[in-house]
Amino acid sequence: MKHYANERLAQLARDRGMPDEYVRDLRVVSSVLPFKVNEYVADELIDWSAAPDDPIFRLTFPHRDMLPAPVFDRMAALLDAGAPRAELRAAATAAQLDLNPHPGGQLEANVPTLDGRRLDGLQHKYAETVLVFPSQGQTCHSYCGYCFRWAQFVSQDELRQALRDPADLTGYLAHHPEVTDVLFTGGDPMIMRTEVVRRWVEPLLERTDTARTLRFGTKALSYWPARFTTGPDADDLLRLFEECVARGRHVALMAHFSHPRELETDAVREAIARIRATGAEVRAQAPLVAHVNDDPAAWSRMWQLQVELGVIPYYMFVERDTGASSYFGLPLARALDIYREAVRGVSGLARTARGPVMSAAPGKVMLHGTTEVAGERAFVLSFLQARRPEWVGRPFFAAYDEHAQWYDELKPVSFGTTLPSYAGDQW
Ligand SMILES: *Cc1c(COP(=O)(O)O)cnc(C)c1O
Ligand code: SF4
Repeated sequence: MKHYANERLAQLARDRGMPDEYVRDLRVVSSVLPFKVNEYVADELIDWSAAPDDPIFRLTFPHRDMLPAPVFDRMAALLDAGAPRAELRAAATAAQLDLNPHPGGQLEANVPTLDGRRLDGLQHKYAETVLVFPSQGQTCHSYCGYCFRWAQFVSQDELRQALRDPADLTGYLAHHPEVTDVLFTGGDPMIMRTEVVRRWVEPLLERTDTARTLRFGTKALSYWPARFTTGPDADDLLRLFEECVARGRHVALMAHFSHPRELETDAVREAIARIRATGAEVRAQAPLVAHVNDDPAAWSRMWQLQVELGVIPYYMFVERDTGASSYFGLPLARALDIYREAVRGVSGLARTARGPVMSAAPGKVMLHGTTEVAGERAFVLSFLQARRPEWVGRPFFAAYDEHAQWYDELKPVSFGTTLPSYAGDQW
């Protein structure tokens, strides 16, 4: 598979007809934030005749507004002046630190311990689910401009967050029988060769009875469907899914689809059919982001196509407050409008998509709508998942704010108490 990053990405943009002015923007922005596309994205997904406004181009390629103007200008001046590499790198690192690289305290929070040892690369935030970041799965086939894990693609240090030894996972699960779901994530765990996936999955089948559901968070169906069809170890992967299902486990690919285009190629359709033929399910989720899918019709079409292809619509996320969020972010009020209009356009079978949902520090918060209480305009929210399980499913109010983009920008209604907030690790 061919990849384009850095200078090769600039060359690709030029070869596909992007003007010099854009190519300069690309160089400046990609000196700070990570970008990479592969040949499938470049050849099958992006409509170059519509670039730069093409949604998949917006999803995967830099835009100057992804950096705050002063940062853009500083990096542009260094690049234009041919500054030495070390100076460029230092300026880029300083800029990255300004872009909230670890939203929601990702580095410190939810890291469990085993026999007094920190298990970096495991996250245990909600009782029944453990997130696993296998060290070999911490990159992706292409990068999304809005990725909230972007920091790990620009710094090797971040790999501290990855788990190396599958025995640490089974060891931890042996002490935590309440965990029913193991969710492999990254990066993209489907970047791993099947042989490596097997090293992670087989011990779960052999040594734990309690981990009943194995999930894989992946964008490979969008960015590299050959992983499940013609790739060298595709058949082997499908055999592994079959083995899990035969052992009574539920296997779910938590597929990230940002735009209906990603569901329209022959390759993705064949990949979905082959995965489903193993007994595994595919569930779909994605953040709602400006310039890519801030359009109710895009979501209605995406959910309808998913139902037709046997994919279950799951979450519509709110974009996190990190990296290029000034470019991709939307006000919560707008997110609500888009969700409501999109869901009106599909039948009940596609209304399994819940949203808009924020994966915030105190839990997964769903925004239900706006209402008027005691003469005050308010958002109605509830927790789908919470650090304190008693919060789940209990509606609460926040003062309506047309500009707020994230949970921690919300304020209580005048007659209410403070909003639930991060309450410390519990495991
Ligand atoms: C979303 C999420 C989960 C899984 O939640 P489900 O609602 O079961 O899909 C687990 N851990 C974290 C940290 C999450 O954000
Ligand atoms: S596929 Fe997921 S982890 Fe990878 S760049 Fe996109 S959002 Fe980030």
